[in-house]
Amino acid sequence: MTIKEKIVSSLEKYRNELVALGRSIHRNPEIGGEEVFAADSICDFLSARGFRVTRGLGGLPTAFTAVFRQGSGKPYRIGFCAEYDALPGIGHACGHNLIGIASVAAALSLAESGLKESFEVTVIGTPDEEGTGGKIDLIKAGIFEGMDAAMMFHPGYETQIHMTSLACRTYYFTFHGRNAHAASDPTEGRNALDGVMLTFTNINFLRQYLRDDVRVHGIIKDGGRAGNVIPDLAVAEITIRSVDNNYLIEVEQRVMDCARGAALASGTEVNITPFGNFYEAMVSNKLMEEIFRESLDEAGFIDLSRHEEGLGSIDMGNVSRVVPAIHPSLSLTPLMVPGHTAEFSALCDTPEAYEVMMTAGMAMALTAVKIISDPAVQEGIRLEFSKTMSR
Ligand SMILES: [Zn+2]
Ligand SMILES: [Zn+2]
Repeated sequence: MTIKEKIVSSLEKYRNELVALGRSIHRNPEIGGEEVFAADSICDFLSARGFRVTRGLGGLPTAFTAVFRQGSGKPYRIGFCAEYDALPGIGHACGHNLIGIASVAAALSLAESGLKESFEVTVIGTPDEEGTGGKIDLIKAGIFEGMDAAMMFHPGYETQIHMTSLACRTYYFTFHGRNAHAASDPTEGRNALDGVMLTFTNINFLRQYLRDDVRVHGIIKDGGRAGNVIPDLAVAEITIRSVDNNYLIEVEQRVMDCARGAALASGTEVNITPFGNFYEAMVSNKLMEEIFRESLDEAGFIDLSRHEEGLGSIDMGNVSRVVPAIHPSLSLTPLMVPGHTAEFSALCDTPEAYEVMMTAGMAMALTAVKIISDPAVQEGIRLEFSKTMSR
C-alpha cells in the first residue's frame, strides 16, 4: 500500500468512531475553559491508540497534548491544533467540534501512514478559542517551542485557503458612581450607567476617523439593579479589532479616551482591564497553504462556496508568529449561513459537515506527509517564516 492508501484506510477504519466523537461533542456543548467532556473524550480516544497524553497545561485544566513519535533520528515536529469550545447559549455555532476531530483524524492517520522518516505529531488541545485565547497561554507555557509546523482547519460557508485575520483585544470598562434614589435624591447620585452609555456614544462619534478594517463592538455586561436606584456600578465589555497589530494599539488608546471622557462627563470613575489575551493577526505560511490546497484536491474536497466570507479573529494568529502555520477555512454549505448563529450550529451536526471534517483531516495528514518526506519543502517553509517574521 502507498502512504496515501494507508492514510485512506486508517481514516476508513476510524470513520464511525471519529464521527461519533464529533457528534457527541456537538451534543454536549461546553463553553471555553469548561470543555471537560470534549477534552476527556479526545484524550481517552488518542491514548487508547498509542498517543502519549498530558493533560492540564499552561494553567488550563482542559488543555492537553497527545504525542506520537516515530523513528530514532531528530524528528520533524508537526502540530495539529484541536479546538472544542462552544458559545454561550448557541452551542457549537463555530463548528469547533469539527475542528477538534479533524485534527484527531489527521494525527491518527499520519501516525498510521507508514512514513519512513522520523517525525513527531502532536494534537494540541487548545481550550477557549472564543474567549480568552487558550493557544496564547499555551505559547507562553512553551508548548509550541521546537515545533516545525502547525495547522488546523475551520468550517465556514466560504472556502478560504489563505487566511487573514484581525488582531483583537477585549476590555472591561467598569464605571463606579454613587447610589441614590432616582426620584427623591438624584442630585446625590453619580450614574455609572451614564458612563457606559456615553462611552458607546463617544465610540460611535469616533468611528468616522477609524480605518475601514477596524471593528469596535460590545455589550453592557452590567447596567444596574433597579430602575429607581441610580447605579453605582456599570460594566461595558468592548472588543476592538484591526488587520494591523500596531494600528489596533492606537485605536485602543482612542477607545479608552472615549471611556475616560464619559467618566468625566458623568462624574464617575472608570477602571479599564483587558479580558483574555491579545489575539494577533494571522501570518499564514504560503508554501504550506499551497501544499494544503494540493492535498485538499487529492482528498476529493468538493467546494460549495458561493459567498465571500468576512474577517474574524483567531488565536491561531499568535501561533502563526512562533511556528509556520496555516488556518484554512472550508465550506460546509452553498448557502449564506454566518457563523455564531443557531443555523450554523445545526449545520455543524450534519452528515455533510462530518464529511468535510474527515476530508479536512485527510488533507492535513497528506500535507504533513509531503512536508515530512521532503527536506527541501521543510527548508522552504522555514525560510518563508523567518523572512516574514523579520519584516
Ligand atoms: Zn467563533
Ligand atoms: Zn471558531
